[in-house]
Amino acid sequence: MTLYPKSQAILSENSRFIPGGVVSTNRAVDPPIVFRRAEGAWMWDVDGNRYLDYHAAFGPYVLGHNDRHVNAAVLRVIEEGRSLFGSGTTELEGELGRLICDVVPFLDSIQVLNTGSEATYQALRLARAATGRDHIIKPQGGYHGWHNDVACNLMTPLSTLGPRRNADEYPFLPISGGIPAGHSELVHAVNFNDLESVEAMCRKYPIAAFITEPILQNVGLIHPQPGYLEGLRALADKYGFVLIFDEVKTGFRHALGGFSSLAKVTPDLVVYGKAIANGYPLAVIAGKKYLMDLFVSPDASNRVLLAGTYNGHPVPTAAAIATIKRLAENNAAIYTHFETLGARMQTGLEKILKETGNRAVVARQGSAFCTYFMDHLPLDWHDLISNNDPEQDNHLRRDLLDRSIYFFQLPMKQCSLSAAHTEADVDFTLEGVQSVLSAKLQ
Ligand code: PLP
Repeated sequence: MTLYPKSQAILSENSRFIPGGVVSTNRAVDPPIVFRRAEGAWMWDVDGNRYLDYHAAFGPYVLGHNDRHVNAAVLRVIEEGRSLFGSGTTELEGELGRLICDVVPFLDSIQVLNTGSEATYQALRLARAATGRDHIIKPQGGYHGWHNDVACNLMTPLSTLGPRRNADEYPFLPISGGIPAGHSELVHAVNFNDLESVEAMCRKYPIAAFITEPILQNVGLIHPQPGYLEGLRALADKYGFVLIFDEVKTGFRHALGGFSSLAKVTPDLVVYGKAIANGYPLAVIAGKKYLMDLFVSPDASNRVLLAGTYNGHPVPTAAAIATIKRLAENNAAIYTHFETLGARMQTGLEKILKETGNRAVVARQGSAFCTYFMDHLPLDWHDLISNNDPEQDNHLRRDLLDRSIYFFQLPMKQCSLSAAHTEADVDFTLEGVQSVLSAKLQ
């Protein structure tokens, strides 16, 4: 069994100065592991254990860890003294804007921020400024960052969620303390894949925006049903709300234009983060000109404030440019690699799960996949939480750690392949899964 004595000692020392010992409480999982370095598809911890990484730090490492092209771009900016900024603008911002609008043709313009949460925050502000309305809709089970509008209705237990809502909303169920009471009036959570509920909200409230991932990826991986995204587009046009696709996790991972481009449904605004800079902190808000131009509206009453000391910092901006260029220049090869490896993983997992008598399904889109211990692919969070067995998922994840395979230690968390994973890595993983699930039978 893998041991973590140094990790445990470091975390307990850190806890003296940092509440919980970690700087993002989502990372506080059991066992606590302190990582030292990573290369390609592999990571090493302070105890010398190594892991084949499927977590990708919640998604960003699309090219793999420590990518040499991204490193070179970052080092060049630092060595040339171009990481000094903030007194004015830099050429890099324009280069990034041009590049993104080039590879994602439905975008008119972009703005650059640091994190996905900032980008979803600004997207909602633009929507409210544009429509003069305050209410928003989000899917139950959707994560869009930590701010007040969206820190609610995520992995709600069934006992709290209650019976399934049809053509209706769930109560506002905050995932954080400190959210002003008034917010519960403005945010309406409905089932993913449920157009009827969206329309019902539009009839009841003046809706400024519907924000959703086009493919729900914070509760594993839930596909939109045929017609769902097109239906959202039609409802946005009918009721005049802003359709925001949160592609923080899916942008540049499933395709250059994210899942929207595969689905061929164009949102009004889109936000990117994570994979866009292969692990460097950068996010982008982009979309239609009439919305983006509100950042510079001549009318001060609805001009949306865009400020941020570190927006467009040259180091992450250089990383983003290098990442997008690498994805664009190797577009066919990389996304085909994801599909080939992803399909190999899915077929292998399904075979092993069946042969070992598990009632389970594998959801997948390209490089991202998730095993659910239930008999069908879930339609939405209510379906998932009503049918999935998280204990089996927990055991699999825990036992894989002892076989050097790192699925994040939380049930229903999706796994991600990177361009650095190989067929041999996938086969190594399948052998690990086979050995864990066979051992359970004995
Ligand atoms: N939106 C989605 C879909 C995410 O998955 C995340 C983070 O996991 C965010 C927004 C928030 O991004 P960040 O953690 O960079 O603030």
